[in-house]
Amino acid sequence: MFPIDRAKKILKEKFGYSDFRLKQKEIIESVLSGNDTLAIMPTGGGKSMCYQLPALCLDGVTLVVSPLISLMQDQVLGLKDYGVSAGYLNSAQTSDERDEVLNRIQAGTIKLLYVAPERILSESLLQSIEGLKVSLIAIDEAHCVSQWRHEFRSDYRRLHILKDKFPQATTVALTATADEKTRQDIVEQLHLNHPKEFLSSFDRPNIRYSILERENEIKQLHKFIQEFHAGDTGIVYCLSRKKVERVTESLCDLGYKAFAYHAGLSGRERQNTQILFDREDQVIIVATIAFGMGIDRPDVRFVAHLDLPKSIEGYYQETGRAGRDGLPANAWMIYGLADVVKLSSMIEMTEAQEAYKRISRQKLNSMLALCEATECRRQILLKYFGEVATKPCGNCDVCLEPAELKDASVEAQKLLSAIYRTGQFFGSAHVIDVLRGSQSEKIIDKNHHNLSVYGIGKETSKSEWNRIVRQLLNQGYIKIKNWEYRNLVLTEKARPLLRGEESFFIRKRALVSSAKSKRKTIPTKDFAAHGREDLFEDLRLLRLELAKESGLPPYMVFSDKTLHDMCSLLPENKDQMMMVHGVGESKWQKYGHEFLAKIPKR
Ligand code: ADP
Ligand code: ZN
Repeated sequence: MFPIDRAKKILKEKFGYSDFRLKQKEIIESVLSGNDTLAIMPTGGGKSMCYQLPALCLDGVTLVVSPLISLMQDQVLGLKDYGVSAGYLNSAQTSDERDEVLNRIQAGTIKLLYVAPERILSESLLQSIEGLKVSLIAIDEAHCVSQWRHEFRSDYRRLHILKDKFPQATTVALTATADEKTRQDIVEQLHLNHPKEFLSSFDRPNIRYSILERENEIKQLHKFIQEFHAGDTGIVYCLSRKKVERVTESLCDLGYKAFAYHAGLSGRERQNTQILFDREDQVIIVATIAFGMGIDRPDVRFVAHLDLPKSIEGYYQETGRAGRDGLPANAWMIYGLADVVKLSSMIEMTEAQEAYKRISRQKLNSMLALCEATECRRQILLKYFGEVATKPCGNCDVCLEPAELKDASVEAQKLLSAIYRTGQFFGSAHVIDVLRGSQSEKIIDKNHHNLSVYGIGKETSKSEWNRIVRQLLNQGYIKIKNWEYRNLVLTEKARPLLRGEESFFIRKRALVSSAKSKRKTIPTKDFAAHGREDLFEDLRLLRLELAKESGLPPYMVFSDKTLHDMCSLLPENKDQMMMVHGVGESKWQKYGHEFLAKIPKR
């Protein structure tokens, strides 16, 4: 039998999966034939399998270097549940626990040994594993080696010591970060020997991207969750700690199990939230971007952004935490003029060097272009990361509800004139007040009620004016001059528009729950189309109970996909159960009978 066929057999028997995903097959083949290998796969692509399967095929031990202690523990527990002998060494262990693991290694009963980078480089540990037969070294989250990334870990820079220590071992480095510089760094710093590189597409086809305009954020969010994600687990990102607190409170008032997470909370509070997120069903975490590293939960059904991220990289990383299990998930965001002003002023008001500001501006502009896009969002995202998607995706808001354009040239002219007539000294709120003929003190005080532009925009609502300002800003017709006063000024580009030589189109408003979008949106709940929601709920509760008993996160007992498969296949015996996605021998023995008992006969 070819090594890869053996690997495939183990994939089915141990893990219950019938096929490889993305480039798993190629990567595993390369590793099994002894090549150093660099595997780049998007989040949720199934990187772990690329070293777990070889570990089971090869003689000796596989060392896995992984930066997060909490994840390491979960992975080892998860592997044990699959009947794979694994252990870990990290600084959170007592010396007794450590000795126990070392004894098991010496006795040859551990196939995969997870180690924190700082641990593996300690003299004592290196000594204690000296005589081991190490066949494979897997470096997870390998981008941590690169100084250019904020995840940089200095210990990663010394990991090549492992290679020197175990020259016969193959090394596989894994990451979801694809940029050229990071890739080079990984190869150089880890001393990879003529590695084979495998790059999978970054597309996450199961994630549906939607970007809407902010009206009333809590109301919009509530409606979105109610409509598409009642009872699901999700993450809501906000820009500030204060907003995180506020939104958490509102969601709790609305009856959701919502928890706040941000850097201002104590380590203990954050840890508690992390545990709740891992171990409970139907929770919503409201967080700043501090919540990120260490999210391994594959069944996050939605990621909602209530504020605009600073860059597409950030947006993609955050939304990428949804739907790692490959099932339908939503990446939903709202934004408005306030975000544009706030983020721009954050850039301009820093003491940073001009070069840094320039890059930040570019990144924000790309993000804004994505927001205002009238073409497929996925195509824009993939293009940003250097991939070409030839067809619109059919699974983003633009594809599902093509934006209708409206000629807003007249409104734009009115607005530009009002900015001009008020001396380019005022922010959007005042300019809009002038257009709408407000009788505020400031207007009277500045004598702006006598201007020719006063009151010429009465028929247009404030929020509509805000949209026009935003789109003019984003398209570079106007800009903010002084970041303290946030006064709007015209740019060169405004001239032909003012003179009526050019037209200005804006997107018509799209609201999340228009009848139209309802019809076109496939609610994620119905994805398996088995129509057995009650059974799913029973199985979910059984899973939660079993998970609590064995101290595992529920998704490690069985994934949602496994439960859905059970609902549609209705297995009646072991053979049929073993055909369910994600049910291997060990899972059958542990949980099979209890699940069978809950499943009705066909
Ligand atoms: P990541 O690339 O983000 O590290 P993981 O290794 O955590 O992804 O895998 C994500 C999920 O995909 C896990 O639940 C894993 O069991 C599952 N998975 C991995 N390989 C396969 C496969 N070939 N078929 C089906 N599911 C798979
Ligand atoms: Zn699309």
